[in-house]
Amino acid sequence: MMTIMGYDINIIRKGIKNIHLGVYPPNGRIRVAVPESVDDEAIRLLVISRISWIKKQKIKFLNQERQSKRKYISGESHYFFGKRYLLKVIETTSKPKVEIKSNKYIDLYINKDTDYNKKEKIIEEFYRAELRIRLSKLKQKWESKLKVNIEELSIKKMKTKWGTCNPDKKKILINLELAKKPIQSIEYILVHELIHFFEKKHNENFRKLINRHYPQWKQAQSELNNIILGYCNWG
Ligand SMILES: [Zn+2]
Repeated sequence: MMTIMGYDINIIRKGIKNIHLGVYPPNGRIRVAVPESVDDEAIRLLVISRISWIKKQKIKFLNQERQSKRKYISGESHYFFGKRYLLKVIETTSKPKVEIKSNKYIDLYINKDTDYNKKEKIIEEFYRAELRIRLSKLKQKWESKLKVNIEELSIKKMKTKWGTCNPDKKKILINLELAKKPIQSIEYILVHELIHFFEKKHNENFRKLINRHYPQWKQAQSELNNIILGYCNWG
């Protein structure tokens, strides 16, 4: 695995004659197959020379996946903190809302003329509020564990990262999509970003810190890599 210009590249060395670069569905995994004799620097140069093509491919996969994903109709699967629910769309004349009353359904109450964008917004606001509750608990837990203060912890829709941080200003941004993931994965992203307060780079020291404070990180990370929307550049 190499990270080149922010992209994680899977490198396969095998007995072939030519270099083959591919971007694969469903989420635009990048793979380079090279003859055994080709060194890392040559791979790096190749990837850089094709970077705009790679970008285009990745965007294509992301759009396909997103478009085929949500229609906000009854019977559609939606994930909420790692668990799958079926959407139940219910017409109401009062204020639109989202409720989860059983472990099978997400009830979406909408007005007769509610359009797609409005439905998306109602669901997103629900996810955001629920994620905020869980994040604030995790924030307290980890601030006291690591003896740091997070000045600002916000939630944002992001396409390419699960989380990001500004270690100098002690700010952390968390991807709204995490509301679909198990709580351990959310916790892992928060801890990952928090550890950047002590170590900005993904180096040996970073790995040492994450292993000490959140040894189950590998499991949490593998769950995240299965989903559609992007990844943090973990290196
Ligand atoms: Zn990081």
